[in-house]
Amino acid sequence: MSTPALNRRAFLRFAAVAGASLPILNEYQLAMAQMAVPPKKLHHPLPGNGAVLINANENPLGPCDRARAAITALVPNGGRYEDELTDELTKTIAAKENLKPEYIAVYAGSSEPLQFSVLAFTSKDRPYVTADPGYEAGARAAEAISARVIKVPLTQTHAHDVKAMVTADPRAGLLYICNPNNPTGTITSREDIEYALANKPAGSILLVDEAYIHFSNQPSALDMVRDDKDVIVLRTFSKIYGMAGVRCGFAAGRPDLLAKLQPFGRNPMPIFAVAAAKASLDDPNVIAERKKYTGDVRRETLDWLTSKGYAVTQSTSNCFMVDTKKSSHDVITAMAARNVYIGRPWPAWPSWVRVTVGTPDEMAQFRAAFQTVMNA
Ligand code: PLP
Repeated sequence: MSTPALNRRAFLRFAAVAGASLPILNEYQLAMAQMAVPPKKLHHPLPGNGAVLINANENPLGPCDRARAAITALVPNGGRYEDELTDELTKTIAAKENLKPEYIAVYAGSSEPLQFSVLAFTSKDRPYVTADPGYEAGARAAEAISARVIKVPLTQTHAHDVKAMVTADPRAGLLYICNPNNPTGTITSREDIEYALANKPAGSILLVDEAYIHFSNQPSALDMVRDDKDVIVLRTFSKIYGMAGVRCGFAAGRPDLLAKLQPFGRNPMPIFAVAAAKASLDDPNVIAERKKYTGDVRRETLDWLTSKGYAVTQSTSNCFMVDTKKSSHDVITAMAARNVYIGRPWPAWPSWVRVTVGTPDEMAQFRAAFQTVMNA
């Protein structure tokens, strides 16, 4: 993997960001940063410590069997860099998605390419356009380089309001669409994504974040990458593949777009992450099995909430939002006091909370705690 020398402009940009101490933000950091009451044994949230951690959209199933076996088999090679494993993964992804390998850049999760896309395509003069409520990591990166952040409220059906997004500012540099959306779990139709692509401001890039796409029936936007459009698609192995702690993801885009992310850095990949990712892709059943598992638990939980009279988002993902009709902050705190940790507050929806879909047992504990907190 070649990394071009940092040019002066990119270096100054990078230095400005580094000066602002901008970490690569992901769900975990965002969850912890805004946590009302930090969980006990935060750094060792081991199974069995009693805390129900449904606050960071993690997958309680962890890596699939093939991924675990791949990691174990590779342990003796842990002293080697073995860059060719990353090349192999890149080729596997490319073959699977019918893309040329140079259209894929593998990273340790998709948080890095998300942040780097914002740094590369937004600036003081080129705003960042995102949904509200939406995933905050990109907005944080934009703020760090003083790019204007334009938050566009979701539509009535909680889709991205693409018409409002494309007209938000003719100078927009990056339009971010997370499909399904985090935190609501709701989808934006293929037609709307096509509309965004056809009508976005001149010179802007569409960033389609497909972190949760495997939980839904949504078509991917990867064909737009195949067609050389101004689109970058992000994927992660943190969600359906249960590898958040293992760290693997990728950006797909035209080589000239991916090249713009490179000055911000690209570390050699941990060999266990790429081996586990490849093994996961080679498993023909993992997506269908986990989609069903998560879908069943989600439906059961949403049905229960609806039967109790709560409004919920029509999620097709591993998280959803529920309107508590109280201060979300108070509810989060009260739930945490019962050892059930749900998602952080989103200021645009002050009475809604985000809940990650866990195991049936975890959701039973969620229901019990929620009922007690709501009746208090
Ligand atoms: N995009 C979205 C919408 C997310 O929710 C997350 C994590 O939760 C990511 C990207 C990045 O995840 P990771 O860095 O673990 O791949």
